[in-house]
Amino acid sequence: MRVSVLGFGCSPLGDEFGPIDEREAERAVHRAISLGINYFDVAPYYGRTLAEQRLGRILEGRRRRVLIATKAGRYGRKAPEGFDFSAERMRTSVEDSLRRLRTDVVDVLQVHDVEFGETERIIDETVPALEQLKREGKVRAVGITGYPLRNLRRIAEATDVDVVLSYCHYNLLNRRMDEVLTPLAREEGIGLINASPLFMGMLSEEEAPDWHPAPPAARNAAARARAICSDAGVRLPEVALHFATRHPDVSTTLVGMGQTRFVEENVGALGLHVDPGLVTAVEGALKPALGVEWVVGRPENNDREAQAAASAA
Ligand code: NAD
Repeated sequence: MRVSVLGFGCSPLGDEFGPIDEREAERAVHRAISLGINYFDVAPYYGRTLAEQRLGRILEGRRRRVLIATKAGRYGRKAPEGFDFSAERMRTSVEDSLRRLRTDVVDVLQVHDVEFGETERIIDETVPALEQLKREGKVRAVGITGYPLRNLRRIAEATDVDVVLSYCHYNLLNRRMDEVLTPLAREEGIGLINASPLFMGMLSEEEAPDWHPAPPAARNAAARARAICSDAGVRLPEVALHFATRHPDVSTTLVGMGQTRFVEENVGALGLHVDPGLVTAVEGALKPALGVEWVVGRPENNDREAQAAASAA
C-alpha cells in the first residue's frame, strides 16, 4: 500500500472534539483527497459509530481513491463494558463496519486499544481472528493500536501484524516511540503509524478537551509555546506537524481534522520552512512537560515510565 505522509484522522467526524458541521466535514474530506491524502483512519468507537457512518456517506463514489483503516474491539469509553476482544466480535464488528462504510473491503483492520485487553488473549485469539478475516479477503492488512509502547511491541513481536498505530508518543511533547517501537518496525518491516501529532489537540490553537489525560503542566507548557508561535506569526500546530511528519520510519502521521482550513494548513505544514530558532524556543517552552506520560488500560500493560509518572502525580 502506498500511503500519504499525512493521514486523515476521523475521530473529529464522531464529534470527539465537540460537535462538527457535517457539511464542512464533507468538504474537508473532499479537499483532503484533492490535495493527495489517501489514508483515512476511523473506528466504530468514534462517536459510537457516527464517524464510520459519516465517512461512509462522504466517501460514496470516491472509495477507490482512498484507503480506509478501521478498528475493532473498542466500543465505549469504560472498561470492561466498552470492550470485546473475542474472535466472534472481530467478525461481526468488521461486518458492521463494512455496512456503515458502504464498502466490501477494509484496507486495514486494527485491534483497538490493546492495553484494555488481556495481552495473551490479544496474541492468541484476537489478532489471529483478524488474520483469518484477511485470508477471507474482508480486510487487506491487520494491525494493533494503543498507547503503552512496550505492550504494543510485545504483541507485534508475538504476531504477524502488518501495522502498529501508536499515539501521543512521537511529537513535540514526547518522543519515546523511537526508544521502544521504531527499531522493531524497521527490523520487521511493520508499517508504523504515528497518531496525534498535536497531542490530541493540546498542540493545536485551542485548549485541549476536558477528557485529555495529560496533567496541567502539559497544558501550561503548550499555552506558553502557543504564545511564542503567535508572537512569531506562526501557528503552533504547523510547527508541531512540521516536526512530526519528517520522521523517516513513519508510514503515515494521523491528524484529526473536521475543517477544510485545517486540512489546507496541515498539508501546507509539510513544505513549511520553520525557523530553527523558533523551534528551539518552542522546545524550550515545552521542556518542563517533555516526556509526559499517563496510565491507560490495565495497569499491568503499562510501561514503567507511565506508572512512575502516574504515581508521582
Ligand atoms: P490530534 O493530535 O491529531 O489533534 C486533533 C485536534 O487538533 C482536533 O481538535 C482538530 O480539530 C485539531 N486540529 C487539527 N489540525 C489543526 C490545525 N491546523 N489548527 C488547529 N487545530 C487543528 O489528535 P487525534 O485526532 O486524537 O489523533 C489523530 C487521529 O489518529 C485520530 O483522529 C484517530 O483517527 C487516530 N488515533 C487513533 C488512536 C487509537 O487507535 N488508539 C488514538 C489516537 C488517535
